[in-house]
Order: sequence, then structure tokens, then C-alpha cells
Amino acid sequence: MWQAEVRVDLDAIRDNVAMLRARASAEVLVAVKADGYGHGMVPAARAALAGGATWLGVATLDEALSLRRSGIGAPVLAWLLSPGLPLHEGVAAGIDLSAGTPGLIDELVTAARQAGGPARVHLKLDTGLARGGAPAAGWPALFEAAAKAEAGGDLEVVGVWSHFACADEPGHESVDRQLAAFQEGLTMAAGHGIVPRLRHIANSAALLTRPDAHFDLVRAGIAAYGLSPIAGQTYGLRPAMTARARVMMTKRVPAGQGVSYGLTYTTADETTLAVVPLGYGDGVPRHASSVGPVRIGGVTARIAGRVCMDQVVVDVGDEPVVAGDVAVLFGPGDDGEPTADAWAAATGTINYEIVTRFGSGRVPRHYDGEVAR
Ligand SMILES: *Cc1c(COP(=O)(O)O)cnc(C)c1O
Repeated sequence: MWQAEVRVDLDAIRDNVAMLRARASAEVLVAVKADGYGHGMVPAARAALAGGATWLGVATLDEALSLRRSGIGAPVLAWLLSPGLPLHEGVAAGIDLSAGTPGLIDELVTAARQAGGPARVHLKLDTGLARGGAPAAGWPALFEAAAKAEAGGDLEVVGVWSHFACADEPGHESVDRQLAAFQEGLTMAAGHGIVPRLRHIANSAALLTRPDAHFDLVRAGIAAYGLSPIAGQTYGLRPAMTARARVMMTKRVPAGQGVSYGLTYTTADETTLAVVPLGYGDGVPRHASSVGPVRIGGVTARIAGRVCMDQVVVDVGDEPVVAGDVAVLFGPGDDGEPTADAWAAATGTINYEIVTRFGSGRVPRHYDGEVAR
């Protein structure tokens, strides 16, 4: 018996990835960082591979090593590496590592010697996002360091890559600008004798809207989980996550009753309040106070007052809700329940954050689908 649960439809992830793969003129990497955007890193990875992904992507070295410890042997790229990590463990585990500075290339050379084999690297170019990656002025030094290490047998340059700032705003002028910069970077790399097998820049949004940005590999995250990176478009994707809980108790209260901490919500009429055992300690954003939608019985009601650490109160009016009824916060929308998109709109965030907040926390995750068996 579950009191609150996150259900993840692994077949939906598999099918979304198969659809993305059919759309892409390139290999597909699925990003399973941050516990698979809250869906569970390892199960999400297996579902992605079943859907035809040939690569997995994570932010940290720890995430990559944890995939390997789970027996996943598929190519893995880890792209968020601060100085001083035990990179030799990544090299020994056959993990591809991203580098955007000559300093990290040096560390990879040392790691390769420790591991007894060349480090597989993807050189990261900043083409306008101004986050990770070498800025244009640093490209020559990065390519020189990489070419030297490759000539010395300590490094294999597998990829050259970048990341978009505004691919989720189709038509944004920065997308063309970044693509042009990326082309320049690739030309410059070739000038240093670096011709990578994998050139990649597209995230889900660019995969769906910019076929000219697919190159050799596309990196899909949010779309694999069935959520659209572009507001108002679904692209036939199927949301994989449902968050729900059983009503703990209900009570009838009069008009004028203040509800939850701070009594910020006041009942308009005599009404039924349902106590739902999910709170910000589980992943419900506190910004959902008095706005988060919840499906209970046949109606979509709103959270009444503040989201607490462990619970919320929902004003269900005169609906005949009783303890034990299932309250759905969000899901694919099949039975009229709100979606992660609706939650994002209600709370002023993005669908990415809504699902990711439910990662590896207190709420048990249960898996559905053939992939789960
Ligand atoms: C998370 C991430 C992705 C996936 O982005 P989506 O918008 O979820 O498709 C791709 N590339 C990098 C570098 C990332 O960090």
C-alpha cells in the first residue's frame, strides 16, 4: 500500500525516445542527470536505451560512475567537471568526459596515465550561452592542448560540442548566431588536426525545431520524459511521470475558515477540506500555495493555503471526497488530471523543475511498463 507515490511509465520514455530518434538525423543521447529528471536515473537510462538511444548524458562524474556500477555499459558522457576530481576512475570506467579548459585537458592526461589508457574527451565550446565551455578567445589554447595530448597518446578527442541558450524560443536570433559560431569552432578545430566523430549542439528544443542543428548526435532530456521544451506544443510526446497520494482525512468546515500556516486562505462557503500527504519535503513547490491544481474524485481543485513540508490541504467544495481517495497532482492528463505543464504555469517555473523536484526523495517511485519487467 502506498500513501504517496511517483509512478513512472518507462514505456512512455522508451516510446518518446523512439519517436525522437525517428525525427533526428543523428544518434540520440538521452540526458539522465539529476536522477533522470526525477524519474530515476537507472530505469530511465534502460528505457532510453530500449527506445534506441545510443548514448547517455549526465552532469557529474558520480552520476556516470553510478550508471556503470548499475551495469550499464552504453557510452556515457559526463559534462560538469570541476578541477580535482578522480578523473582516472571515469577514464577506467570508459566514460567520455567533457573539457572546456586546457587545465582540465592536463588533468585528463594525468588521469589517462593513472588509468593506463587514453581519456575520451568532448571539447566544449561556449558559442554564446556563457556558461560552461571555452569562450571563443580560449578555443585555440583548448585545441592546442587537446591536439598535443592526442599526439602523445593520452587523449582521444571523440567530440566537439556546445549548448544553446534559447533553442526553446523558436526563431530567436541567438540560435543562428550560435550555430555559426559552432561551425567556426569546428573549422578551427580541423585546423588543429581535430576532426571529431561526434559534433553536437542540439538539446530537445533544437532536436524538435532545428534539423540543421542535429550534426552527429542530439542530446535529448525533457522530451524523452514526455514533456515539451516549447510551451504550447506537445509534439506527440507522452508524459512519463504521475505524482499522487491518498487523502489522509477530510473535514467539513464553515465559511470563513482560515486554512494552513498563516491562515492565508479563507473558505468562501461551507466546504470540505481534504488533507493530502505530499509537501515541499517531497517535491511540491511551496510556490504552489493556494494555486497548485489537484485532481480528486471528478474535480480539479486547488491547494488551499500554504504548502507544508509534508502535506497540503485541498478545498474540494461539496465533492463527496473521503479518506483514501486518490489525489493526483499531475500526470499525463488522460483522466483530466493536471499536467506538469499546468503545475509549471501555476507556480511560475518550467516543467523540468516540477518533475525533477520529485527525484530520489521521500516519495517511493514505482515503475510501469514492459521495460520495468
Ligand atoms: C540537460 C542538458 C541537455 C538536455 O536538455 P533538454 O532541454 O532537457 O533536452 C542537453 N545538453 C546539456 C549540456 C544539458 O545539460
